[in-house]
Amino acid sequence: MTLTFEQARACVLQQVGTHRSNLAVEHISALDAAGRILAEPILADRDYPPFPRSARDGFAVRSADLPGELAIIGEVRAGETFRGSVAAGQAVEIMTGAPLPDGADAVVMVEHTERSGDLVHIDRTQAGGDNFNPRGVEARLGAQLLEPGTRLGFSEIALLATVGKERLTVYAKPRVAILPTGDELVDVGQTPDASQIRNSNAWSMAVQAARAGAEPVILPIARDNYDATRKLVEQGLACDLLLLSGGVSAGKYDIVEKVLADLGAEFYFTRVLIQPGQPLVFGSVQGRFFFGLPGNPASTMVTLEVFARAAIELLSGVTEASLPFLQAPLSRDFRQKTGLTRFLPARVSADGSSVEPLSWQGSGDVAAVSRANAFLVTEPDRDQWSAGDMIRVLLK
Ligand code: AMP
Ligand code: MG
Repeated sequence: MTLTFEQARACVLQQVGTHRSNLAVEHISALDAAGRILAEPILADRDYPPFPRSARDGFAVRSADLPGELAIIGEVRAGETFRGSVAAGQAVEIMTGAPLPDGADAVVMVEHTERSGDLVHIDRTQAGGDNFNPRGVEARLGAQLLEPGTRLGFSEIALLATVGKERLTVYAKPRVAILPTGDELVDVGQTPDASQIRNSNAWSMAVQAARAGAEPVILPIARDNYDATRKLVEQGLACDLLLLSGGVSAGKYDIVEKVLADLGAEFYFTRVLIQPGQPLVFGSVQGRFFFGLPGNPASTMVTLEVFARAAIELLSGVTEASLPFLQAPLSRDFRQKTGLTRFLPARVSADGSSVEPLSWQGSGDVAAVSRANAFLVTEPDRDQWSAGDMIRVLLK
């Protein structure tokens, strides 16, 4: 079951998108809702704007009177309502955010007027409707402003504030089990001996899972033997999603697939034509999805980001998991062998005007990935790019 990048991603979206069910919800305060996924529709509690609202400081006028000299009959500030109406030959001084007085059909910016005493001279025309927002143009009472499945950022939370929604229903964060495997691993707080390494994947996976909307649950390191791995896999299946790192290549002690198969797993793919990260397992067992991510740290990070993240997002309640590839011009000529979709460490310049491929030592090179702020995403059928050519970029 070897898939291309696009096929594998479509498979994850399809499987998790169709088989997630009964997502739990919780009620929280809007100020705590940044990054959470809305589980109820948000409706307009009144028309927006609720009155014809001036967009400028200036004078409320009847457009038919212009150009001309108008009598100023009063003023209206934000938060007030002008009592009375504007008749022919009259104007009301108005501030941004104030309701347009009856009778007026336009606002003239103060910069375009000349005032002397109670008269204002305006030597230009102004179309009816200019410089104010009619009542209800942004939204009508009862209109849906946000739909369930929306991730809440600052503007969505501003909208919650606008409609007075102080508490709301969001989806509960899915619990994602993180299961590192490998006899060579020691916990981060321990001193590795000459042949050992620290378990860095558990940390990157936890951070990436949390960023995608999950509550990560880091399990102890599974040693490369059947019983230890099986016991921890079973423990991990109590969570909503299981992410394993390592133990899925062709090595003699790579037993993750065997353990999962024995537990009754269905495998949707076991290999993807990408670099880094070719051995990559996705399936479901006992009603839970799992990913067997390759153990090399850069592979773990990339495969989590481009595949497992989508599953986490969907289990978090998003309607659509997105992976936006941007385009940027290459800073230099660039070559790659064909055959794989590659995600290579790169640096997008501070102003976004070019992208520089970084040198790296392959998928164990965490330091190179840390120097990068993006990945170049190559197409599998192209081997040469010249400086200035546009190339796909995935921001880190
Ligand atoms: P594996 O996929 O188990 O064959 O591991 C591939 C490479 O990744 C090996 O060099 C491992 O030592 C390394 N590796 C595996 N798991 C981790 C981990 N949790 N943290 C850091 N490196 C790891
Ligand atoms: Mg291993």
